[in-house]
Amino acid sequence: MLFAAEPLAPTLESARKVLKQYYGYDSFRPMQEDIISNVLAGQDTVVLMPTGGGKSVCFQVPAVVQEGTCVVVSPLIALMKDQVEALKANGISAAYINSSVGQSEQNNIAADCLNGYLKLLYVSPEKLLSEGFMSFLKRLRISMFAIDEAHCISSWGHDFRPEYTQLRVLREQFPQVPIIALTATADRLTQRDIQTQLRLSEPRVFLSSFDRPNLNLIVRPGQDRVGGILEFLERHPGESGIVYCLSRKQCETLAQKIQAKGVKAGFYHAGMTPNQRASVQEGFLKDDLQVIVATIAFGMGIDKSNVRWVIHYNLPKNIEGYYQEIGRAGRDGAPGTAVLFYSFADVMSLRDMLTKENPNLTQLNLTKLERMQQFAEAAGCRRKILLNYFGETLPQDCGNCDICRNPPTTFDGTELAQKALSAVVRGRERMSLTLLIDVLRGMRNQAVLSQGLDQIKTYGAGRDLPYLDWYSYVHQMLNDGLLYIAYEEGYALKMTDLGREVLQGQRPVSMKKFQPAEKAEKPTRGRKAAAAKAAPSTPEAGLFEALRALRKRIADEQGVPPYVIFTDTTLQEMAVERPVNRNAMLAISGVGMKKFENYGEAFIREVLAHGGNPAAQAELDEDEDLLVGFEPSGAASARAPRKRAPKTASEPVTDVNGTMETTFQLHRMGLSVEAIAERRDLAVSTVQTHLTTGYTKGLELRLEEFLKPQELAEIQTAQAQLGGSPMLRDLFDHLREKYDYFRLRLALLYFKRLRGE
Ligand code: ADP
Ligand code: ZN
Repeated sequence: MLFAAEPLAPTLESARKVLKQYYGYDSFRPMQEDIISNVLAGQDTVVLMPTGGGKSVCFQVPAVVQEGTCVVVSPLIALMKDQVEALKANGISAAYINSSVGQSEQNNIAADCLNGYLKLLYVSPEKLLSEGFMSFLKRLRISMFAIDEAHCISSWGHDFRPEYTQLRVLREQFPQVPIIALTATADRLTQRDIQTQLRLSEPRVFLSSFDRPNLNLIVRPGQDRVGGILEFLERHPGESGIVYCLSRKQCETLAQKIQAKGVKAGFYHAGMTPNQRASVQEGFLKDDLQVIVATIAFGMGIDKSNVRWVIHYNLPKNIEGYYQEIGRAGRDGAPGTAVLFYSFADVMSLRDMLTKENPNLTQLNLTKLERMQQFAEAAGCRRKILLNYFGETLPQDCGNCDICRNPPTTFDGTELAQKALSAVVRGRERMSLTLLIDVLRGMRNQAVLSQGLDQIKTYGAGRDLPYLDWYSYVHQMLNDGLLYIAYEEGYALKMTDLGREVLQGQRPVSMKKFQPAEKAEKPTRGRKAAAAKAAPSTPEAGLFEALRALRKRIADEQGVPPYVIFTDTTLQEMAVERPVNRNAMLAISGVGMKKFENYGEAFIREVLAHGGNPAAQAELDEDEDLLVGFEPSGAASARAPRKRAPKTASEPVTDVNGTMETTFQLHRMGLSVEAIAERRDLAVSTVQTHLTTGYTKGLELRLEEFLKPQELAEIQTAQAQLGGSPMLRDLFDHLREKYDYFRLRLALLYFKRLRGE
């Protein structure tokens, strides 16, 4: 199955070739390269990288360039299946052995290992530790062991798997074989457990940034969750997503409500038979089901790269779990959304649960829950809090969370706080949070009336504010230490000394104004990932949909999930670049040799059916490679041009608008002018002309990338000083050549727009 005619040397250089040839990627991500060097040097390695960071490549590529077989320990059948399918689709020989594989199949796989054909063998920990397996392994030539989801080894963690703790036998039985352990959990304790339990010898630890800038982080108050979810689905038609909730019952009813809206949804929980669960998962992977409502059991086994959003119906127990779950969205790097519904009631029920669950860990678990709560109640950038939890600091606010998009304003909340505190005291500090709000708002329900709370002086004193507002303000008071919750007394609210000072008018209180959540999702400008998706009406979007449909057809024919054929990002790039020949197709990120061989023609035909790329079409006739399959040999890789073929000189003339739009598309995706020029093989000045022309015609661009507000002000002043509408050259001179013509032109166009011209 491997193309390589000449044997590969275990060097970084051949690793790069493999990445291009098999995966279709031009370069390693920053840390991948260091990791692979370390692995190739035969060192033990620990990799801590967020979901979607690209961990798989770190052992798969070394496995291909090294002799022998890489044995991968992986905790879930679905995960193994997925990875093996993806490897095969890329032309790399791989197989898995677990309880789902029959004996004769196992014998075949064993034979493939023994004759050195298999580059990667995935096994479950149970299989690995089962009788006879060690002696089988002893007969193989093993290049290395990769321990995937290595955090399963730690009893501190959230996915503890007892079998993982026995993996030290690998080091005992194979002292010479290097081990690479990989996980998306960066917790310090977990990290220590991985190193000691696997008996790693002076491993190098690679801790990558845990930032996932393409995920929009949103927290919404936990009222009308179902309505919120249905509305969200309307705004995200056709996008794959997962809703996590706590109970089976919830799972099923929510899935029904979503189905009732005409969205294909399934549910997934531990109460179903393995077959039922497998078929739901399969439906999701294959894009037959758009939405899965799942308990946390729908966990790690999802390698689907085109999950666009994750919703938490309830507050997760800790930040590790939350981060791993939201990490399932946007693994392909395209924008994703994470919505968390939060209410204080969730904290209370989780507290109860955690206290009963594991007495030894109660304190630790409650502390983790508190951090989760702080995240949900944050008044500052949420990404900062998350990254901080993983020991990272973000220098600026992220611009891609609800708080950054919609920053809260503050006001003097002393009077509000006094009303609430007074009610707390007059209710003899026995009211729960909801009851307090009901009293403040003058509700006449059973709880209020039965305790005679309608008789206290502050009853109804906060009638003017809706529930959600009060809800937010009382939370702020809790966070500011004016109130606390007596968990042991039925969660009654009590006043602190600080609260007393406020009530007695000795201390002012500043509060953040409550804001409803709709605005939180509005796309930001200037944030790279947020704008990467084609607007629905553009020709790119039309082609993207067609390519997606083609992908689905091929996937169904071959019985694999669509994202195994190509990821969403690869299709998006095709929709923008419109490759109509071999060279152009191979230049798309994610199109390797094998995939070109298998699918290239079909996708090129689809692009042609949508008009193709006029500039490249001229080359088509001469491109004899197109419909001739290409040679599966080393020669192919030597010839495979990594750069786009030069554009014909006529391009800008033949289709100025089309090519200008492509420039804008790339610009919106966050590429710099230079990057666009390089990618499109155009002069920088041509790209700049596209941008100014488009801007003149009313297209939007990210002006702040080129001109800061004070620079605009400076240019405006210069313009005023020169009077009227000065020549660009005069402005250029007047500003002592500080700004090039491109930026000056943009500035003038911007002022024109401001004047409404
Ligand atoms: P993880 O295992 O860390 O969750 P994956 O290995 O599944 O992440 O990688 C996430 C996505 O990024 C996949 O679609 C993968 O093909 C892609 N990817 C990995 N490395 C690169 C690279 N060097 N260039 C481009 N895409 C990459
Ligand atoms: Zn932020």
